[in-house]
Amino acid sequence: MPPIISVANLSKTYGTGFKALKNVNLDIQRGEIFALLGPNGAGKTTLISIICGIANLSEGKVTVGGHDINQDYRAARSLIGLVPQELHTDAFETVWATTSFSRGLFGKPKNPAHIEKVLKDLSLWDKRDSKIVTLSGGMKRRVMIAKALSHQPQVLFLDEPTAGVDVELRKGMWEVVRELKAGGVTIILTTHYIEEAEEMADRVGVINKGEIVLVEDKANLMQKLGRKRLTLHLQGQIDAIPAALAPYRLELCDGGRELIYDYDTKGERTGITSLLSDLRASGIRFFDLDTTQSSLEDIFVSLVRAQ
Ligand code: ATP
Repeated sequence: MPPIISVANLSKTYGTGFKALKNVNLDIQRGEIFALLGPNGAGKTTLISIICGIANLSEGKVTVGGHDINQDYRAARSLIGLVPQELHTDAFETVWATTSFSRGLFGKPKNPAHIEKVLKDLSLWDKRDSKIVTLSGGMKRRVMIAKALSHQPQVLFLDEPTAGVDVELRKGMWEVVRELKAGGVTIILTTHYIEEAEEMADRVGVINKGEIVLVEDKANLMQKLGRKRLTLHLQGQIDAIPAALAPYRLELCDGGRELIYDYDTKGERTGITSLLSDLRASGIRFFDLDTTQSSLEDIFVSLVRAQ
């Protein structure tokens, strides 16, 4: 199936001459949750704003559902729902009125049944007649999502959906996002929280200084993360790894004073117990050991530092 969003050779230079995006290429598949990670100022909001038609691109091409965002702006935009970072709603409107009004902005005919479904899905139905000013922060955020879903978009952008939100609300938001996905909506979220990407995303993209530096399936990333490294600091020095230890694929480092064993924490057996007894049988003694695990955070930090 063709991607729902296709970004090709996209660059953005602001009026100040600052190049915020540099030759970005990215395809978003229908039905996925894609998490875009990046430090402050990396270009996340700029990228989203261009796809949503709020900012102009300088070079390249972007299509949404096959529609070019420049030549076929209305068709492209009607497929998108955007929940921006800042919460801005009409404080004195009711939840029902503001959500219905948003649908009208897209020139769609009234559809109370759809608005009712959206409000129920977001647990806002009981609050439909409440003025927004009376709602909690978490509810206001859900109203923003309801507005973005009012015109039945196929893609939903969530720009930092849980910034400044407490842990409980964050988990509630994740639940909402999962349900939206189950309902067939493609979701692109930007986040500073690595944990959020780990929890939610089917794929993860990392952007830094206007460049996409990694796009990968979360499952692949997690497999990498599921690996741990055991380092044994030997009492003496050895020249070679005994043949009996070959199955462990050990690595000899630090001039023969360290043995390294990589293992899978998710497997049924780590192999550590048998390794230690086989080491003993081979007459290798160690005086200390440590284990390390790479996390998405490590990968993220090293990618961002490397640039
Ligand atoms: P954050 O996580 O802080 O929201 P971001 O990844 O969304 O950051 P952007 O808001 O896209 O980053 O900004 C990318 C870069 O472009 C920043 O250096 C920013 O200062 C610059 N920038 C953004 N908007 C403009 C503008 N209108 N004119 C000039 N430079 C801008």
